[in-house]
Amino acid sequence: MDYAVARRRMVENQIMRRNITDQSVLDAMLKTPRHLFVDEGLRPHAYSDASLPIGEKQTISQPFMVASMTAALGLQGQERILEIGTGSGYQTAILSHLVSRVYTIERIASLAGRARRIFDQLSLTNVNLKVGDGTIGWLDQAPFDGIIVTAGAPDVPTEFLDQLAVGAALIVPVGPQDRQVLLRLTRTEDGRFSREELMDCRFVPLIGEKVGPTMGSDNGRVSVSPGEEGTSRIKRIYDWVLSWAETPYAVPALVVLAFAEASFFPIPPDVLLIALSLARPQNALRYAFAAALGSTCGGILGYAIGYGLWTLVADWFFTYIPGFTPALFQQVGDLFVRYDFWTVFAAGFTPIPYKVFTIAAGVFKINLPIFILASLVSRSLRFYLVAWLLRRYGDRARAFIERYFNLLTLVVLILLVVALVFWKFFLHTQ
Ligand code: SAH
Repeated sequence: MDYAVARRRMVENQIMRRNITDQSVLDAMLKTPRHLFVDEGLRPHAYSDASLPIGEKQTISQPFMVASMTAALGLQGQERILEIGTGSGYQTAILSHLVSRVYTIERIASLAGRARRIFDQLSLTNVNLKVGDGTIGWLDQAPFDGIIVTAGAPDVPTEFLDQLAVGAALIVPVGPQDRQVLLRLTRTEDGRFSREELMDCRFVPLIGEKVGPTMGSDNGRVSVSPGEEGTSRIKRIYDWVLSWAETPYAVPALVVLAFAEASFFPIPPDVLLIALSLARPQNALRYAFAAALGSTCGGILGYAIGYGLWTLVADWFFTYIPGFTPALFQQVGDLFVRYDFWTVFAAGFTPIPYKVFTIAAGVFKINLPIFILASLVSRSLRFYLVAWLLRRYGDRARAFIERYFNLLTLVVLILLVVALVFWKFFLHTQ
């Protein structure tokens, strides 16, 4: 498919015919590859006259809507613009061609990460992207020469009005989900706002602290069953972990996460490692090193916890856990001590929760230098492998890692064990 041709037709048929004449807006739309902002499967539809799903229950806006909102800002070229709701990043990219700097906020970290990668790919250097709740605006960069909100608010959020420069406009869809109006509010010299209704529209909801509780609530969340509540809590921690990728503290956060995960924290560092490596493939191996280092040190803490706490809780375990006898404990402990390196290695390389084994290593008091060595080797191997895959295969590797990597490392481990057993058996019969 010839995307350039599709794009020209889109601009002619959907935008110019509907009376958008601002040449700079038309030019920006002509040079922005909209198909890059949707999933591969949707690319044939990227230039159609519609909004499209981008995952996480969000959408990329219809081209005509993007053009209308952009034109409504009345841009000259020197503006600093705030966008709320980065989503796919398409609107951001259009703006970045037309103004001096775009500040954009997205609440869903995975969408922000994807947008960031496309900005890098297109070498859009005048975009500042941040993950978080955009309903409070971006105070330390205010005032803005224009604010554009690409999610529907129940009412006009006053924060946005406060962050507008004199003469600047806020473009925002307002109203209940099924009948929103696109508004333009312009700050006048005397500190008041002129209000214009531009057109009817339909946007996904703006969700955040500063929007009314009734209309702005997440429709998806209202209907979740109790079972899903649990996942959404973990999902929230997961999103929180991911949001560090977009801050200047991403690498320290990765070290701390890897450290914490080796003894108590539930989210594996791979999550952040993947996000960072995709955003900056050239640094992928450095990130892997940071994760391996943090994880090994955290493992030592896990070991210390097991070592120190066991004497306190051992009696409880022996008394209250059926079948958990000192004899069994001794047996497992002997095995652990005998295969110390390989047990820690196996746990460090595969998705077996690492903390279980770091703590167990302390409980059974296995040889500490061997424990550290096995941790360092297995954690490095694991994280380097992840980083290398991402560096080499980019986004394709991400899908693969998320789907099969854990399974694969487990299978490798099982094959290894089977091979060892066979080998031993073979040696015995010699
Ligand atoms: N301009 C985007 C539109 C995406 S849809 C595009 O064309 O692709 C709106 C986006 O707003 C969603 O990604 C949603 O996650 C985001 N959003 C909703 N409430 C938000 C908030 N309070 N702060 C930041 N982003 C928000």
